[in-house]
Parts: sequence; structure tokens; C-alpha cells
Amino acid sequence: MISSSTELYGVFGDPVSHSLSPLMHNAAFAHIGYDAAYLAFQIKDIRAGINAIRALGIRGVSITIPHKVSVMECLDEIDDMAENIGAVNTIVNQNGKLKGYNSDWLGAISALKEKTGISGKTVAIIGAGGAARAIGFGVKQERGKAIIVNRSTDKGEKLAKDIGAEFCPLSEIRTLKYDILINTTPLGMTPNIDTTPISEQAIRSETAVMDIVYNPLKTRLLKEAEGNGCTIIDGLAMFVYQGVFQFELWTGKTAPVEVMRETVRGKLR
Ligand code: NAP
Repeated sequence: MISSSTELYGVFGDPVSHSLSPLMHNAAFAHIGYDAAYLAFQIKDIRAGINAIRALGIRGVSITIPHKVSVMECLDEIDDMAENIGAVNTIVNQNGKLKGYNSDWLGAISALKEKTGISGKTVAIIGAGGAARAIGFGVKQERGKAIIVNRSTDKGEKLAKDIGAEFCPLSEIRTLKYDILINTTPLGMTPNIDTTPISEQAIRSETAVMDIVYNPLKTRLLKEAEGNGCTIIDGLAMFVYQGVFQFELWTGKTAPVEVMRETVRGKLR
């Protein structure tokens, strides 16, 4: 029941109508009986959006494309890991003081840890965009050895240097030895479900393969990796865990992980 004491949360992005975060967070609030509502806001001017948080007393906000970097200069404080990554996807309003966090890296690391250890492992990350950056710093934090594998050399080398990782051109991925492979490119995403970042023959058997694309849930990469005897981790796990960390930062309560997972899985099905 929405009342005059209901707290407001939301996601700021452009576009934002596709976001599954309202569904996931509202299901979690309802499950634990937390008096809050979470809405999607299409925001073009991020500074105006941040002023709205202050004016309306919005308690917490998820930030998505294209504002994850530009929002940083509008905030009062930024968590160290978000500062290192250079992107914020979560804002907490602490009595009018806005602090930015990055829960993408925590989401990816938690999703991996459900199925495999990271410390001492070689982790090949395909892509050099925002998600690769968050995951790369996360792998380093967990004492894994990251290798950035990217189509464009300049962007890949820059990210590798920032993280203190090696770089490998995507065209040479066959030569790589790794324990964990992560796709952070949009290859394989609906409607281009026949695309994949690496040929089936080049997937090393008995490794762990994660795809952060979650639509479809089982991408071509994951199907082929499963066929090669690999442990597979889908993008839903990362999405849910990044939401779990947001929920816990905002409410101080333990997030109902399985409710969140099943709510989003049901929608994706
Ligand atoms: P981004 O900043 O645009 O980066 C995309 C990367 O993919 C770039 O490095 C780009 O390579 C590479 N790429 C794009 N098209 C390619 C192609 N045809 N062949 C080879 N490489 C290609 O995007 P992002 O923000 O990192 O997001 C990437 C994907 O992750 C999106 O699909 C997004 O929906 C998904 N995502 C999922 C979650 C989750 O929770 N599961 C969270 C965040 C993002 P170049 O550098 O050569 O251009």
C-alpha cells in the first residue's frame, strides 16, 4: 500500500523503459514488507535528475546508460571502488548527502563465486567498455589475473593499463590460456542471438564461462561452452547480485535473493 510514509527509489537512464530493476526491487520490497516504491525515470539531464533526488527526498537511485560516468561530478561523495572504476550505478541519499557506489563489480564477482573461485585464476574478459572495466577491477580486487581481450586495440590497451592487466586482441583469443572467460560485449543479445565473441572450437574445455548478456538467458556462447564441458554462469546472476547490493545499501536489510532472481527469471522467460 502506498501511503504518505512510503519511501521513493528509482532508476535514472535514457532509455529506461526496458529496465527490469523496478520489477525486481518492488518484488523485494513487498517480500520483506518494506514500505517503499521503485520507479523508472527517463532522465536526459542528469544534473536536473540529481537535484530532483535532493528536492523530493528520493532515498536511493540506480544509474544506467548513459549517465554512469557523468553523474559522478554531481555527487557529494564517491566510494573508493567506484572512483577507481570511474563509474557509479548506485546512489544512496544519506540525510541529503548523496554518495555514489558501483555495484556492477560486486554483482559480477558474486555471480562468479557461486560457481568458481577467482583468487590465483587467469580471467579473460572480452570487451573493454563500462562493464569490462567494473569486472576487471573486481577480478583484481579478488586477486585474480585479468586479461583484457578486445576488438579495438586502443580501448583494450587503455583498460588493461588502468587495471594493471595484460591485453590480447580479440582476433588472437585462440592463443589464450585462461581458467575463466567472461563476455562483456553485446554479442549474442536478442535479436542477434546467432552472434558470439569466440568460435566454439576456441572455447577451452572445463573452464568457467560467464556471459553478462541476459537476454536470452542461455546465449550461443553459453550453449557452446556447456557443450565443451564448461561450467556456465548467465548474465541474470550478475544483474540480480548488483541489485542485491543496491537493496542492502539502501535498506540495511538482507535482500531476498531468490525472490529477486525468480522475479526477473520469470519475466525473461
Ligand atoms: P560498452 O561500454 O558499449 O562496451 C561494449 C564493448 O563490446 C566494447 O569493448 C566493444 O568493443 C565490444 N563490442 C561491441 N560490439 C562488438 C562486436 N560486434 N564485436 C566485438 N566486440 C564488440 O557496453 P557495456 O556498458 O560495457 O555493456 C556491455 C554489455 O553488457 C551490454 O550488452 C549490457 O547490456 C551488458 N550488461 C549486463 C549487465 C548485467 O548485470 N548482466 C551489467 C552491465 C552491462 P570496441 O572497444 O572494439 O568497440
